[in-house]
Amino acid sequence: MTELLANIPTQVISLVTIVALFALLWLLLTRTVLGRGFSVPLRTMLRPVETHEYPEKPRPVQPRFHGRHQLNRYADGLEKCIGCELCAWACPADAIYVQGADNTLESRYSPGERYAEDYQINYNRCILCGLCIEACPTRALTMTHDYEFSADSRQKLIYTKEQLLAEVPEGGEDTPHTDREVRERGLNYYGGLAVTPPTLHGGKYRSAAAAPSARAGTVVPSGELPPSGDAPHDPAAVGGQVRPDTGGES
Ligand code: SF4
Ligand code: SF4
Repeated sequence: MTELLANIPTQVISLVTIVALFALLWLLLTRTVLGRGFSVPLRTMLRPVETHEYPEKPRPVQPRFHGRHQLNRYADGLEKCIGCELCAWACPADAIYVQGADNTLESRYSPGERYAEDYQINYNRCILCGLCIEACPTRALTMTHDYEFSADSRQKLIYTKEQLLAEVPEGGEDTPHTDREVRERGLNYYGGLAVTPPTLHGGKYRSAAAAPSARAGTVVPSGELPPSGDAPHDPAAVGGQVRPDTGGES
């Protein structure tokens, strides 16, 4: 027997030994409780890493992700919100509070007759469903990709208008504007000057002013400016357009 073993080449003995070791290891991993336990980390070690370095490197969300809301502005800084409360009525969680007020000659916040004097979203209630942004007639309200807004008190989760309002676009001015300033710009805010996209691009908010609009180039402002101290004109006539039901009076 010893003589027979001595005649077997060393390579064959090595091969048989390796195969035997692998077989033993396989039996250990599949047939014993300890082995089955160790097989889990051993298998996981060979898989691609699923751990993400949050918050240092947050994962990008899907393009249509619904995150924190944003109240948008026009290119000149005027607010798009006209205080109509449609968003509040559409909200199934009763999370939105809007207090509308009238724009005046010397204090104009939005191109419409009204603006949102107070605007709050209660994120204790909000389920980020997006029904409110669907209801908004002016695209004043959109949702961003920001989901990092947890807080240590319920009060801090009630966002105010100041927190929700978008930054003033470059070249624009913060509200309020005077009525005359707005008319002098000759912009037609209802012509689709800028459509605010609902998402962030590269982690940065995209301002309404920078957003593309197919109709922007076709809206030609016209109309005479009213003399100073004139009675308040219909805000719907900004840019020279008048409502048909007013018989041409502004
Ligand atoms: S996302 Fe849904 S729940 Fe949240 S404020 Fe809008 S409508 Fe209400
Ligand atoms: S956000 Fe839109 S729907 Fe809500 S009050 Fe303002 S304009 Fe109306």
